[in-house]
Amino acid sequence: MPARKLKAVPSETDFVVVGSGVAGLRGAIELAEAGRVLVLAKNELTESATQYAQGGIAVALSDEDDIGLHLQDTLQAGDGLSNPDAAKALVEDGPARIQELIEWGTAFDRHGSTLTFTREGAHSRSRVLHAHGDSTGREIGRALQAKARRLKSISFCDFEFISDLWLQDGRVRGIELVSPAGELHRVSASAVLLATGGLGQIYRETTNPSIATGDGVAMAFRAGAEISDMEFIQFHPTALYVKGAPRFLISEALRGEGAYLRNMEMMRFMAKYHDMAELAPRDVVARAIVHEIERSGNREAVVYLDMTHLESSRVQARFPRIHATCLEYNIDLITDMIPVRPAAHYAMGGVRTDLEGRTSLPGLFAAGEAACSGVHGANRLASNSLLEGVVFGARAGKAMQESLGESRSGKPASNPRATAKSAAAAAECEAAISAVRELMWKQVGIVRDGKGLRQAVAELQKQQSQLCASPQRRAQEARNIVNCALLVARSALAREESRGAHYRLDFPAHDDARFKKHSIARGDSIRFE
Ligand SMILES: Cc1cc2nc3c(=O)[nH]c(=O)nc-3n(C[C@H](O)[C@H](O)[C@H](O)COP(=O)(O)OP(=O)(O)OC[C@H]3O[C@@H](n4cnc5c(N)ncnc54)[C@H](O)[C@@H]3O)c2cc1C
Repeated sequence: MPARKLKAVPSETDFVVVGSGVAGLRGAIELAEAGRVLVLAKNELTESATQYAQGGIAVALSDEDDIGLHLQDTLQAGDGLSNPDAAKALVEDGPARIQELIEWGTAFDRHGSTLTFTREGAHSRSRVLHAHGDSTGREIGRALQAKARRLKSISFCDFEFISDLWLQDGRVRGIELVSPAGELHRVSASAVLLATGGLGQIYRETTNPSIATGDGVAMAFRAGAEISDMEFIQFHPTALYVKGAPRFLISEALRGEGAYLRNMEMMRFMAKYHDMAELAPRDVVARAIVHEIERSGNREAVVYLDMTHLESSRVQARFPRIHATCLEYNIDLITDMIPVRPAAHYAMGGVRTDLEGRTSLPGLFAAGEAACSGVHGANRLASNSLLEGVVFGARAGKAMQESLGESRSGKPASNPRATAKSAAAAAECEAAISAVRELMWKQVGIVRDGKGLRQAVAELQKQQSQLCASPQRRAQEARNIVNCALLVARSALAREESRGAHYRLDFPAHDDARFKKHSIARGDSIRFE
């Protein structure tokens, strides 16, 4: 429950922004000159994936780099499925959006007065800016929030859970929310920006914070929007694997700075799997780790990240947050190896948008991880998502300005209604969520096959039909988790090939003729185009 409330939610505004991560804040700043902007978040404003982003933000700004190379690396990671126009918009707008972040007070790390760039997996150049070593997202979020708070037309409401879009005559007219007290309200607006982040919580093992329950994607799907590329889930190869500890991310940047991966026999193994060894694309590294674990015959096996050969002062200065977190579990990365395994990390798919964040529903826009602009294709290049948030958040904000005044005919039929809480219903809800997360990890995870996917779809359909109908927040999150899990499983079953982060044992190769296309889910159908 919230310790404080920022403000009462109005029943009407010009623009609603759902989410206070990098995409929502950047969208709100762009909208501020056009009208009143209401930014809503379901927890504290600072609780978002953005806060946990460690490695950095990719941008072609260093002397050794250029926009063409960033584009090339982005398209290559996307494995034939990135939308080249979206990727071009990302890398071309990137430098201006970063300069703007600097002007607004983001303190990226520097050597003297020169920005320092690090290199991450599948990047051909050092192009990843970072802040306070490994707290890049937190620093960007801080600067964006400070900027947004200086703009009078933006107001914030935290601890407000948006349960659904408010749809009338085929147009999104606002949002429906459940207050912490369990009351339902509607807020009408000319346009709504969904910037609700990812859906890692549909998996048992995930680096994502608890807010990442796919709410935006699920509510857009229920409202009839097109949802694209849901089968592509990026599994981060290296999450801390210690019993009882959350799956804290051990950033790719450690490997960028020279960390080795070692198997149970303490042997380096990545060179067997890819020319770029530890810096191979994430899906290759994640599958290599799964293979090494299976090869060991011990399902509980882990692999290790080894930094012990690197200069200790550099490691401490570069990764203070990771160092401190590992120490909480008695692992000192100066002297010890870090036990790691893969975990669900990033959703390439989401609410389908054009290059300006427009979805298939009038009045509805999406940006950031909840959206699928096609930038990432079948796999995301590391550190491209914070950049996507600022670039497409700004683009969506600009496009939304045109909607001003378009939908105010609908009456903001506020419908406050207290809802009963029941301990039994809450327990039922948690049990359903755990079952889905386990099923997704086992059958719709890093390595998939048709049999497992068919079983998963059937089981998830059953789960969906048995969900308890309650407007309480956790019941709504359960519904969103099941809706998103089903979208991922159905899309994965429909894509009978392997590409990017989607790997099927029964279809291990690309099938360009049938599947060099995006999957688009709407209602019961999935088509490829
Ligand atoms: C551990 C970790 C490390 C990462 N490291 C990097 C990195 O180094 N570089 C990089 O580029 N990317 C990284 N990523 C990915 C990146 O952080 C995210 O993709 C990005 O921050 C998403 O931003 P967003 O604005 O779309 O969503 P988020 O930052 O997740 O914000 C979502 C917002 O939506 C709100 N919300 C959600 N549902 C509702 C609802 N129903 N009602 C009201 N509000 C709601 C939340 O309260 C929150 O404010 C990392 C991700 C994780 C988890």
